Amino acid sequence: MTPSPFPFSIAPQNEDERFMIEALKEAWKAFQKGEVPVGAVIVHEGRVIARGHNQVEMLQDATAHAEMLSITAAESYFENWRLAKTVLYCTIEPCCMCAGAIFLSRIPRLVWGAPDIRHGANGSFVNVFDKVHPTHKVQVDCHVLQEISAKLMRDFFQQRRKETSYNLDDELSC
Ligand SMILES: [Zn+2]
Repeated sequence: MTPSPFPFSIAPQNEDERFMIEALKEAWKAFQKGEVPVGAVIVHEGRVIARGHNQVEMLQDATAHAEMLSITAAESYFENWRLAKTVLYCTIEPCCMCAGAIFLSRIPRLVWGAPDIRHGANGSFVNVFDKVHPTHKVQVDCHVLQEISAKLMRDFFQQRRKETSYNLDDELSC
């Protein structure tokens, strides 16, 4: 299948929105592959140096979240697991696993889009970012372009429900 171009036309109002659009483009890649549409990018000195989108289904790996894949890519880029002076942009509030990876890789700043009620580790399910750590603190900004992240998720799950009910009807008519 030929990938469709990114379907949203957004004029960024600031740098955070500009990089969140890059993360949304990653989420769109996931959407088109039938993966839950979550995307992430890592920025260093005003430049995207790593990208990732959710690949849990393709890799059959529950840890293949957009944030994890982009963190691994950034570590390869620097040949260093310490991601100092970087910013991680992700379209959805990170889960506990990704929050842990953000802490361990020393990412100093996180920007996310829409909340994840079921798994979000920045207040929706739990909040691991409000714990005071002796050596490391992550600055967090959230709800950046959240409507678009949330719309992608809504569209994805609506489509999936339709497909599921279609298959069910098909089976019932046999
Ligand atoms: Zn995660």
